[in-house]
Amino acid sequence: MTLVERFLKYVSFDTQANEDSGVTPSTPGQMVFAKYLKEELEALGLEEITLDENGYLFATLPANTDKPLPVIGFIAHMDTSPDMSGKDVSPRIVENYDGKDILLCAEQNIVLSPSQFPELLDHKGEDLIVTNGKTLLGADDKAGIAEIVSAMVYLKEHPEIKHGKIRIGFNPDEEIGLGAHKFDVEKFGCDWAYTMDGGEVGELEFENFNAAAAKIVFKGRNVHPGYAKNKMINSIRVANRFITMLPTHEAPEHTEGYEGFYHLIGINGEVEQTTVSYIIRDHNRTRFEARKKEMEHLVRKINDEYGLGTATLELRDQYYNMREQIEPVMHIIDIAFAAMKAAGVEPRVKAIRGGTDGAQLSFKGLPCPNIFAGGLNFHGRYEFVPVQSMEKAMNVIVKIAALVADR
Ligand SMILES: [Zn+2]
Repeated sequence: MTLVERFLKYVSFDTQANEDSGVTPSTPGQMVFAKYLKEELEALGLEEITLDENGYLFATLPANTDKPLPVIGFIAHMDTSPDMSGKDVSPRIVENYDGKDILLCAEQNIVLSPSQFPELLDHKGEDLIVTNGKTLLGADDKAGIAEIVSAMVYLKEHPEIKHGKIRIGFNPDEEIGLGAHKFDVEKFGCDWAYTMDGGEVGELEFENFNAAAAKIVFKGRNVHPGYAKNKMINSIRVANRFITMLPTHEAPEHTEGYEGFYHLIGINGEVEQTTVSYIIRDHNRTRFEARKKEMEHLVRKINDEYGLGTATLELRDQYYNMREQIEPVMHIIDIAFAAMKAAGVEPRVKAIRGGTDGAQLSFKGLPCPNIFAGGLNFHGRYEFVPVQSMEKAMNVIVKIAALVADR
C-alpha cells in the first residue's frame, strides 16, 4: 500500500469523537479503526504491538544498530472532530491543481475557492485530496497516522538507514481533549516523542497557552422594586461592573501571537444571583499567574464595595505551556529543525493559541512537540490535504529517525 492508499483507507472509517459519551474511546468506531490498524501493523512486521481497552495502540520498530540510542516516538490521533460528520467520507484527488475553484458538491454548490482559502494557491501544481462537500476529510489526523505507518515501512525497506528503537502510538479522543488522558507514558517508554498533528507544511510547535478557568458567582439582594431604594443589590449590575473592570482589549478578538487574554465565555443571571465564566490564557507563566491574581484582586474590590461574600471566585488551572518541559531538552527541537531542512522543508515555528495533547504528555514526562501533518481547514467540509505535503511529513519522520542515530 502506498501512503495515499493508506490515507484513503483510513478515512473510510467513521471515528468521530463524542464529548458526551463518558467512555474511552468515546465512540465504538474508533476501536474498530484501532483493531484494523493493529492488524495492519502486525502484517507489516512491527513488534511489541499492544491495543489496550481504551483504544491506545502502540507498536515498535526495533533498532537496526547496536549503538546505544534514545528511544523516540511518533504519535497521531485516530478520532475526528465532533464538529462535523466523518461518516461515509468520499474523498477525491484533484491532480495537478490549477489554482482555480474546486467544486466539491454540485447539487449543493459547495466550492473550495482560493478567494476564501488563499492557502490553496501555495499548493498549485500539487495533488489535493478533497471532500465531496458533505463531511470532513479526516486528514486531522489520519494523515498523521498514514505518514507514521508509511515512514515505518520505508525504514524497514531501507536497512541502510540506521536508527534506534522507534515507538509509534495512536490514541483516541484528541478532539475532545482526552487524547493524553489515558496515555500510558511509561508503557510507551520513549525518551521523547513528536505528535504528527499540525497543519501546513513546516509547522513546528512547542509552545502553547497556560490555561485556567474562572467562575465568579455574584450574590444580589432582591426586594420589590417599589421598595428597593437603598436595599436592593442587583447581582447582574455587580457582575457587569466586574466585567468592565477587566481590560476589554485583552480578549481573543483583540489579541494574537504571544498576547494573552481574559475570555468571557458565559454569563447567566437574575437579580438574586449571577454567574460569570472566563477562560484565562497566556503563554508566559508569570503573566498567567498575574492574570489570576488580578481576578482575585477584582473580586476583593467588589466585596469591599458591596459587602463581603457578594462575589466568590473559583479558579482552576487547566493546562500549562509545554515550553517549560521542552526547554531542558531543546535538542529535540533542533533535531526536528534539521530533519525538516534535510527533507527540503522550511521550518515554521508557531506558538499554539490553545492546548494540545502533546502539552499534556509533556507534563506527564514525555516531551512531545508537534509537527505538521499537512492538512488544512480542519474540522469541516473544506478540509483538504496535498499529497506532496503528506510525503514531506513522512520524509521528516524518516530523517528524524536517521538524525537521532547520527548525532
Ligand atoms: Zn488533530
